[in-house]
This record gives sequence, structure tokens and C-alpha cells, in this order.
Amino acid sequence: MCIFAPIMTQDELFKVLVAHCKEYGFIFPSSEIYDGLAAVYDYGQMGVELKNNIKQYWWNAMTRLNENIVGIDSCIFMHPRIWEASGHVGAFNDPLIDNKDSKKRYRADVLIEDYLGKIEEKINKEVEKGRRKFGDSFNEEQFRATNPNVLREKAKYDEVHNRFVKAEQESNFQEYRQIIIDCGIVCPISGTCNWTDVRQFNLMFSTSMGSTADGSNTIYLRPETAQGIFVNYLNVQKTGRMKIPFGIAQIGKAFRNEIVARQFIFRMREFEQMEMQFFIKPGTELDWFAKWKEQRMKWHVNLGMGAENYRFHDHEKLAHYANAATDIEFQFPFGFKELEGIHSRTNFDLGNHQKFSGKKIEYFDPEENKAYTPYVIETSIGVDRMVLAVLSNSFKEEQLEGGDTRVVLSIPAPLAPVKAAVLPLVKKDGLPEKAQEIMKDLKYCFNCQYEEKDSIGKRYRRQDAIGTPFCITVDHETLNDNCVTVRDRDTMQQQRVPIASLRQMIQDKVDMNNLLKNLD
Ligand code: ATP
Repeated sequence: MCIFAPIMTQDELFKVLVAHCKEYGFIFPSSEIYDGLAAVYDYGQMGVELKNNIKQYWWNAMTRLNENIVGIDSCIFMHPRIWEASGHVGAFNDPLIDNKDSKKRYRADVLIEDYLGKIEEKINKEVEKGRRKFGDSFNEEQFRATNPNVLREKAKYDEVHNRFVKAEQESNFQEYRQIIIDCGIVCPISGTCNWTDVRQFNLMFSTSMGSTADGSNTIYLRPETAQGIFVNYLNVQKTGRMKIPFGIAQIGKAFRNEIVARQFIFRMREFEQMEMQFFIKPGTELDWFAKWKEQRMKWHVNLGMGAENYRFHDHEKLAHYANAATDIEFQFPFGFKELEGIHSRTNFDLGNHQKFSGKKIEYFDPEENKAYTPYVIETSIGVDRMVLAVLSNSFKEEQLEGGDTRVVLSIPAPLAPVKAAVLPLVKKDGLPEKAQEIMKDLKYCFNCQYEEKDSIGKRYRRQDAIGTPFCITVDHETLNDNCVTVRDRDTMQQQRVPIASLRQMIQDKVDMNNLLKNLD
């Protein structure tokens, strides 16, 4: 039985989480001994396991559960014309604004979105107050429609929101600045409203390929993995004899020179994406869009991190090539933010590559007896944001009976970096040897850790802190009865289990196939 420790503010929780990630080998600032490199992070011994498990869950859900989805692995370097065709050279910009006093740089759209988020938060708090006050007789709809505080905040929200959407649609950056000033949005560092004009900033990193003497070429580090899929569409369709509808999935690094990168691994300059482009017959895109929205939400909720922590946010401003777009937002410690994007991209990408490369990119549909450029539904999720979602959702500081506390990561068991720890109670009397025997048996099936240092209580805490679902303790009795004590991470309940049943017991809980079966 455990009670939650005094509630920390979300800000405090986030700081504690970042420190925890470093202390337990999940995530380190890059180049730390040289004082780090902004918005670049390395994954440590625990982080890489978690990340690999997330990738495996995504990859298998895409390519194994769908016979018509195959994977590729394309290069980071691509022909520079690709980024002209995709529109990234001309229009992959963020609107930036500087505070003249602090000299800090912000994304103008994010400042406004955060302001709107705070109003939303205020409204929700007001509603919660009402719920507490009126108890069972509380009617939320009526409360939202009549409470003067809610109505006042809602009117403020609507006014700013409407201006923002209009400014977005018209790419009116002067108006972005005006909204920021009219709303009194101040720089969190200087506390002033002394803003520069809003400027556009291209997010692509460039480098050069070939020696200067040969005439070097400017090339880009890819800002998304999707284009590697589009330019391989013909290769995969032909060699895989793929019939529409079909999808191509890819996991890989992407690079963006983000203006503001202050949210740990939420916004990095080097990150990883898991993208799937689903090629379909023109005219069927809205049906497929709805299907992929549903599928992707199911994939997330299936992890058991609370359906209430996800929501869709449909885009009000659509890119000129898209005819539907939504984000799956997750409740991060700093509020609901984009975790994944789902976009109906029409035939914009394939059509443009056809134009720029001069190669025909079409599909001959035997059922329709005609050729067309396929339409595309894209699902695109950041691996690192997913890692952050899992870590922030599972991090708990608990107060135990007797005044003790523990930090536990209740990571969904199939994603946990280490599945079981094997712990001899003492470092003598043949217990380490027995524990090593168990290790030998389990290590081919699961990532296990053997630990013999420190008291058993300390070892339990260390395993809780990295999210290990099972601790297996070998004691003197084990030598007689071939049974061990298995402690469950979440309930802390202990039970005596025959060594022969360990493998099955762990498998039942950590098997990723159980997750996948729920999706099928
Ligand atoms: P944002 O609005 O937060 O900048 P975006 O709309 O530009 O994100 P997309 O281009 O749709 O993002 O990229 C797809 C996914 O890639 C995002 O949902 C996110 O999970 C991930 N992603 C994008 N940029 C970053 C980044 N700088 N760091 C980490 N993950 C990112």
C-alpha cells in the first residue's frame, strides 16, 4: 500500500524527472564534459533500451500487423533538389521573435499558444472548483454556459484564438507581434514586453558534400524522414509488387535548427522520427485519414498510460497541400502538446517529385484500369517525444507506510529497459552461484540485471527507479526448495515462485506480443 508523496508542481516534477533521467542512465546532455550542446541529448544505458522497445512496438505494429505495410531505411543525405520539391527550402520556416531586454529568442506562435493554454487551464480549474462545490448534482455543460468567470475567460480565449487563426492563415507576422503585445505576453526572463518584429527562420541544417575544388554541393541534413519514403515509392512499389492501398514505414534521424529548444527531449535539434506514408486511391483519403486517426490513438491508449492523457487537436490552418490534419496531443508535464501528427497530404509530394525529377511517378490501378499519382496519409511520431511521454507518465514519488519514500518508474512492462533483476540475498553461502544459474536461464529471453551489492532494500529501490517489473531474490531457502521470492514493482507484493515457472511468469507480463494482439 502506498500513498502519493506531497504533490509537486508540474514544473518541479519536470526538473526532478530530468535529473532522474541523468542519474539513472536514461538521458545525458550531449558533450557534457564540454558544457553540453543546446538541445542535443544522448541516450544512456537505460534510455537506449527504452527507446529501442518503443521503436519495436511501433515497427511491429506497422509492418507485422499490416500485411500491406513494409519498412525501409533511407539515408540522411539526399539530393538537394528533393528539399526544393518538398517545399522545405522555400517554406520550412518558424516565426521567431526576440525580447530586446533579455536577448532571448522565442517562437511567436508558441508564445501565443502557451498564452491560450493558460486561459484553458484557468477555465478547467474553475470547472473543477464547481465540480467540488456541487458534487453529484454538478452539470458541467450548464456550468460552462453560465458561470461568469468561465464566460469571461472563454470570451478572451475566443477573441485571441480567432485573431491567431486568421493571422496564421494569412501568414501575417505583424499581427502575431500585435497579438503578443495586446495580450501583454512578457518574456519570462526579463518580464518585459519589449519585442522585436517577427522574422521567418529556415530550420534546415546544411553542410557541403565533395571537396571545394571539385565544386562542392550544399546538401541538407534531412528535417523529416518522409521524403526518403516518397523518393523510394517507385522502388518499393515495383520490387515489392505492392498494390494500393499500401504503406511504407521508416524510423530514422531528423535534424531541425529549432529556435527555441528548452524542453529537454521534447524539442531537440537532432531527433528521431517514426513515419509511415500510406498510399491510396485519390478520393478515398478522408476515409483512410479517419481510419489512421483511430488506429494511431488505439496504439497509444493500448500502453495503459491513461486515455485521458491523449486528445486530438485538429489543425485549423492546413498546409496548402493537405486536406485534413490532426495532432495527437499528450499531457506532458508542461501541458497538452503534440506527440504525433496525422496528415492527409494529397498527391503533393509524389506530384512534386515527378515534376522536379522528370520521372513519372504513377500507379496503374488494375481495378480502375487507369494510372494515377497516389494520395498519401502520413502518420509521424517523434521517438524522443514518445520516450518523454512514457517517462513523465510513469515517474512517481511515493510515500510508503512507515514514512519511507520511493521513486518508481511504472513504465509499461513490455517497454521497460530491464525486465527482471536477479538478486542473491547475500554475497556468500552459494547464493550468488544459484542466482547466476537463474540469470543464465533468463538472459536469452529477457534483458536482466544481476546485482549483489548493498542491502536488498537498496537494490529494490534502484530497480524501482529504472522501472524493472520484477525483482527475483535468491535466499537460503532457495537452495532447498528451488523457489525464489518475486517482488512486483507496482504493488511491491512478494510471492514465492518455483524457479521453473519464472520464465513464463515474466513472459506473461512483458511480452510485447500481448500489446500487439490487442491492436489486431
Ligand atoms: P512542433 O509543432 O512541435 O514543432 P511539428 O508539427 O513541426 O512539431 P512534424 O513536422 O509534424 O512536427 O513532425 C512529426 C513529429 O516529429 C512530431 O509530432 C514530433 O513528435 C516529432 N518532432 C518534430 N520536431 C521535433 C523536435 N525538434 N524534437 C523532437 N521531436 C520532434
